[in-house]
Amino acid sequence: MIIGVPKESFPGERRVAMVPASIPLLTKAKCEVVVEDGAGLAAGYTDAAYAEKGAKLLPSRAEVFAAADIIIQVLCYGANDQTGREELPLMRSGQVLIGFLRPLGSPHTVAEIATKGLTAFSVELMPRITRSQNMDALSAMATVCGYKAVLQAADALPRFFPMLTTAAGTITPARVLVLGAGVAGLQAIATARRLGAVASAYDVRPAVKEQIHSLGGRYVELPLETGQSEDHRGYAKQQDEAFLQRQRELLTRVIADSDVVISTATVPGKRAPLLITADMVKRMAPGSVIVDLASERGGNCELTRLNERIIVHGVTIFGYFNLASTVPYHASQMYSRNLTAFLLNLLKDGQLNIDLQDEITRDTLVTRDRAVVHHLLAPAQPQPAAPQPS
Ligand code: NAD
Repeated sequence: MIIGVPKESFPGERRVAMVPASIPLLTKAKCEVVVEDGAGLAAGYTDAAYAEKGAKLLPSRAEVFAAADIIIQVLCYGANDQTGREELPLMRSGQVLIGFLRPLGSPHTVAEIATKGLTAFSVELMPRITRSQNMDALSAMATVCGYKAVLQAADALPRFFPMLTTAAGTITPARVLVLGAGVAGLQAIATARRLGAVASAYDVRPAVKEQIHSLGGRYVELPLETGQSEDHRGYAKQQDEAFLQRQRELLTRVIADSDVVISTATVPGKRAPLLITADMVKRMAPGSVIVDLASERGGNCELTRLNERIIVHGVTIFGYFNLASTVPYHASQMYSRNLTAFLLNLLKDGQLNIDLQDEITRDTLVTRDRAVVHHLLAPAQPQPAAPQPS
């Protein structure tokens, strides 16, 4: 099997799907790796480093697509809605595509990929089971985003984060509120604490309370009936509008008392819940900062503008998406480890082994034999039988 690593083409994307350190693991598994010239440069990985680890460098994108049996990317067509379409003519029927495809947000693209005859795996659909933890690219990238969101906020805030006792008086620490304490939110709490801020967090899943405490954060208790707020995959369920309305009322005061709000709340396949209205922003002190990590999914704040930094009522609101790309060295390293683990699970004796009894393979496979085969995307199609307990 030849694994191809083209340079990412989404504008501004600096990550690369595979770093040199992963290559020996794949060559040991009887694979060859071909890399487009300069593919890792923006992330800090030179062509020489790839060559030294056994990769073959190819001068053009077209040659990488032509040579590879399996194409691995960070943003595949679907997740790459800017230039991804240009890649379709470079691919051929039977080729395998692995990466972020944003399948729930771009079903038409998935259909196009199927029509082309590609066998595509979407890393977003990785099951959240212990065995796949090292393949969980969503979690890896959310970790990077949570970290970077806090740095963005600290940079924009006209205050210190830590408490300081100086000859010029005592500085009180910044108050950071995290909305949505999933992977990104927990990393935001940890990063804010490392910088010396007082961190608190709220989530609809009460199970996160202990995790927040273990990071030195305070759990914001709201008198809301969350009921069965978590689905079987560990994700939040969508709340109804009455719940969200009450949640916003209760959060108004908490948000007004915060210097920084990092919002990360999302529900898979749905628009992000609206947690911060324009009126709530108005009640914040001038100079406060909101980093809306849910911007790509519609935003948690009513005023967020996608991929922009704006100031409204004196409050700076960041709506940048693709923050993971701004820490490209480590984001690529983490993603590369995720994909290598996934590939090693998918290959047997150097050949592709699509075993639908394997939950990891079955849940991530979105297209095969010119059809969309994932049950979340093609509910009308017959499903492969679930493995029977032995
Ligand atoms: P996510 O990105 O889908 O959502 C972020 C957070 O927003 C979640 O914690 C969610 O509960 C919260 N949220 C949704 N609606 C909200 C609302 N109205 N108000 C406040 N918060 C709201 O989630 P995620 O970060 O990808 O992870 C979800 C869970 O899955 C976490 O508990 C995480 O630890 C767990 N997880 C498990 C594994 C594994 O077992 N392998 C791997 C990764 C994550």
